Amino acid sequence: MDQQLQQEGYFGEFGGSFVPPELQEVLNYLSEQFYKFRDDPEFKEELRYYLSEYVGRENPLTYAERLTKAWGGPKIYLKREDLNHTGAHKINNAIGQILLAKRMGAKRIIAETGAGQHGVATATACAMFNMDCVIYMGAEDTRRQALNVFRMELLGATVVPVHSGQGRLKDAVDAALDDLVRNYTNTFYLLGSAVGPHPFPTMVKHFQAIISEESKRQIVEKEGRLPDAVIACAGGGSNAIGAFAHYIDEPTVRLIGVEPDQAPSLTQGVPSIIHGFKCLVLLDEEGQPKKTYSIAAGLDYPGIGPEHSHLKVTGRGEYATVTNEEVLEAFQELSRTEGIIPALESAHAVAYAKKLAPTMGQDQIIIINLSGRGDKDVEQVYQMLK
Ligand SMILES: *Cc1c(COP(=O)(O)O)cnc(C)c1O
Repeated sequence: MDQQLQQEGYFGEFGGSFVPPELQEVLNYLSEQFYKFRDDPEFKEELRYYLSEYVGRENPLTYAERLTKAWGGPKIYLKREDLNHTGAHKINNAIGQILLAKRMGAKRIIAETGAGQHGVATATACAMFNMDCVIYMGAEDTRRQALNVFRMELLGATVVPVHSGQGRLKDAVDAALDDLVRNYTNTFYLLGSAVGPHPFPTMVKHFQAIISEESKRQIVEKEGRLPDAVIACAGGGSNAIGAFAHYIDEPTVRLIGVEPDQAPSLTQGVPSIIHGFKCLVLLDEEGQPKKTYSIAAGLDYPGIGPEHSHLKVTGRGEYATVTNEEVLEAFQELSRTEGIIPALESAHAVAYAKKLAPTMGQDQIIIINLSGRGDKDVEQVYQMLK
């Protein structure tokens, strides 16, 4: 890819930055600082230190022996992001961006959150680094996710309910961007997924790429070769792009992203601009971003990261959907066979792996990225199964 275009954050026709001029200035500065510190040896060492001592990396690549036997096909390995502190991959990115914020002299971190998972990861990292933390959340979402609001407050964050618009995630994003433009001299906007205007998708990928950096080393140690497929669930696409990153230039490795069949941005989306960047978006009849619904709150987003959009249209990435029933079954099967209760988001990847396994041979290998643990979802699954 053209160096200049890559600098501006384009992945083919996708990505870029479509924002008002005053916000563009803030993003240009962020971009410059990110490229400056990304490869700085001291910054890298500090990041490595906190990922090891606080997050608990590296996490294992577990051979799922019983699941492999039950499905009768390829060897199944699980990349255990569920074992990270706070129970998911989001903390990798939160720590990385906070360290960058510190270097940039920010005293205050802001973030948006839908269901609350990114808000909790951000509030956690802010507590550890003694940063002021303001989380914008749609008023409607604060009611539905009262326990996560309390978690963030326990961690010392201020949660601001956003009443404008429909009081949902989109309105929280707008409120956070507004805050950033007013307070950029001391404030850093910590974005939670591989979406948004440049440099966010590139930055989030950089901090999540640790997933495949580790899994590639681990699978070569265990099996002496690369996997045949890597499977991850895709909401905004951060755990998936992190799980794919170090395999993108390995053409023998299939990269498969899995979406809910009720929010299939990649399988049914069209190129469009949403939240300041271009990607495949699900639109309704009026050409507006479609209202999506997923049983997994983290996958409930009508767009998808620009790099996934590019991997999809170039054919390097494959994208599939699974139904709620398949997800619920996978949630229970992994719990029963391996003693691991997965997040409902991660159960999407497990559900698709189960469908793919019979088409592959016993000498082949699948890595499933287990993006998070399922404790947060147990009550919801209980209600759904009842
Ligand atoms: C937030 C979340 C996701 C979805 O976000 P991505 O950016 O697509 O990774 C997936 N799994 C878990 C456990 C999450 O918390």
